[in-house]
Amino acid sequence: MPRTHNDRQPDTVSSMDEFVTTYETTIRLAAFFGVFLVMAVWEVLAPRRTLTQPKTTRWLNNISLVVLNTVLLRLLFPAAAVGMAALCSARQWGLFNQVATQDWLSVVASVIILDGVIYLQHIMFHAVPAFWRLHRVHHADMDFDVTTGARFHPVEIILSMLIKFAAIILLGPPVLAVVIFEVLLNATSMFNHGNVRLPLWADRYLRLLIVTPDMHRVHHSHLEHETNSNFGFNLSLWDRLFGTYRDQPEDGHINMIIGIDTWRDPAHCVMLPGLLLLPFNGKAGDYAINRRTWKHGK
Ligand SMILES: [Zn+2]
Ligand SMILES: [Zn+2]
Repeated sequence: MPRTHNDRQPDTVSSMDEFVTTYETTIRLAAFFGVFLVMAVWEVLAPRRTLTQPKTTRWLNNISLVVLNTVLLRLLFPAAAVGMAALCSARQWGLFNQVATQDWLSVVASVIILDGVIYLQHIMFHAVPAFWRLHRVHHADMDFDVTTGARFHPVEIILSMLIKFAAIILLGPPVLAVVIFEVLLNATSMFNHGNVRLPLWADRYLRLLIVTPDMHRVHHSHLEHETNSNFGFNLSLWDRLFGTYRDQPEDGHINMIIGIDTWRDPAHCVMLPGLLLLPFNGKAGDYAINRRTWKHGK
């Protein structure tokens, strides 16, 4: 019988587990509002681009979608990913609940592996036509700022949670790792969607490790080959490792067009009812994986 988390004497990670389980909601809310505030102020003080849509209307609609998603997730999965990690620990499910490892190692490895899962999930949402219909709500935003980072269709949010549950059941990560991962993902998503100016040298060094706003903005380009790049949300490692990394947009950060060419009407791309209906609106388009054709000579 392997020595697992439950067999151990109370140690730092176990007491941290208890602490984060008790204060999970507070920690997540504090991190969310803290990072959101910092990014919102930074966007006013040092914006990278001029926004193309009226900011108040966009923010009101994007934030309404975030509130709707938060309420929906709480109603459907009150214990969330942290609850699933606690259940796996109690039932001894998953890799790290079966294999004896150093506590710190299972925390670090779990955070990295979960980030890799989110990278692969993101690619899947671009490739599978039905999933692309959902994910294009994120991409149809004609501007790119902190609110884009949390703008996802509710069905995508629910599917993401189910994929996260599956990953947690297989991996059996410590509760602490799941809280760190959730807070990090939320914070980095707001950071890397920020319409903020970072000194170019800082961007160059930062993106050796994490996804920067300039790196993720390439993914929001209207050009298909640029959208098919930089799928990472947190660590920049995955794009480099799997060959999806693209350094800069062809048209430059100031002149590049953000969004999807076929979706430019604010009724569909800005207003909440349009956003909710967008996946069911029109055709899947010729972007998803089985709609593409070989292009020769390029
Ligand atoms: Zn995407
Ligand atoms: Zn994005």
